[in-house]
Amino acid sequence: MEIDYVRSRFVKHFDGQTGNVYASPGRINLIGEHTDYNGGFVFPGAIDKGIMCEIRPNGTNKVMAYSIDLKDRVEFDIDDEKGPKASWARYLYGIVQEMKKRGVDVKGFNTAFAGDVPLGAGLSSSAALESCYAYALNDLFGENKVSKWDMVLAGQATEHNYCGVNCGIMDQFASVFGMEGKLMRLDCRSREFEYFPFDPKGYRLVLVDSVVKHELASSAYNDRRKSCENVVAALQKKYPEKTIETLRDADWDMLNAVKDEVSEEDMKRATFVLGEKDRVLAVCDALNAGDYETVGKKMYETHHGLSKEYEVSCEELDYLNDIAREDGVTGSRIMGGGFGGCTINLVKEDLYDHFIADVKKKYAERYGKEPKIYDVVIKDGSRKIC
Ligand code: ADP
Ligand code: MG
Repeated sequence: MEIDYVRSRFVKHFDGQTGNVYASPGRINLIGEHTDYNGGFVFPGAIDKGIMCEIRPNGTNKVMAYSIDLKDRVEFDIDDEKGPKASWARYLYGIVQEMKKRGVDVKGFNTAFAGDVPLGAGLSSSAALESCYAYALNDLFGENKVSKWDMVLAGQATEHNYCGVNCGIMDQFASVFGMEGKLMRLDCRSREFEYFPFDPKGYRLVLVDSVVKHELASSAYNDRRKSCENVVAALQKKYPEKTIETLRDADWDMLNAVKDEVSEEDMKRATFVLGEKDRVLAVCDALNAGDYETVGKKMYETHHGLSKEYEVSCEELDYLNDIAREDGVTGSRIMGGGFGGCTINLVKEDLYDHFIADVKKKYAERYGKEPKIYDVVIKDGSRKIC
């Protein structure tokens, strides 16, 4: 995203003056899926696609906002009880309220913003938007006294309280804390995190979007969560002396010990969750060793687990995974909750052109539509540009 692109619109749609420019990225998750509500780890990184905004205080108590991509303009009073209706403006209104709650004396401002994160593809354009404004408001009106973690929580609260999305913290965390050439292992239970080097020389990271919408998702998620809870209940009964809050607290021996007390299906779900914890830890070692072949192998294993044990894949995603495997792609798996969206692929540079052409052709032949392709590079999190 170019500064001039945003600035020229900001100048044109407001009073001709310039303001400060901020940017915040979308994210990928390398491995660690359906682990957040099981108290486990995720492994996100910020990407080279995000939201950029220009913003300037206007001396009133009104926010005047222009969405460059949607060509839509919205105004609202900072203290308005209800806020705007337009869904993009709800994020802005929400983050204003949440930053105020955290002690930032937000005053009226003019702003224009644009983004290059594909909307609703699983790359978290909404977290990019929230984090961008959280960072901007903190810098302009809050003397940067709100911590990074509190900006993360302000973004999450915006989704919960103003946009009706009951999300976890990974997306906002990755957008705010992201760092060029680093992925982050986040412990969803303790919120501790650690940076790991991600510098896959000779490989590229590419998302292949099945363009299938995840419509089945919400009831299926509830079923999966219920399965995990059932197994936890059985473990608690078996091990009254231990503190078992989530599947995070179980090991393989413990899981095997309750095999006869839970359904076969619940057992399969729990097998995925424990396996995913092991895979995340194996990926940490592999990243530290710069061993991207092992990283790729673990990605395939996660795909297999999501498809056959957790059963959150779909025919199209499995087909994308099969094509990757046949083409010799290093690693490939569903990214996100499943039932649609993208696969994330680690591809050797010299295989890249062949794979992209092949996956487009084969997918279109079978499903009558081409998948969308998004190249990503791991870059910095929320920041001030000028
Ligand atoms: P995602 O998985 O990309 O976060 P969401 O549905 O959570 O998908 O968020 C997408 C919403 O965020 C859009 O419908 C829009 O309201 C807002 N949004 C994201 N990017 C932009 C943008 N570039 N311009 C305007 N609104 C945006
Ligand atoms: Mg979102």
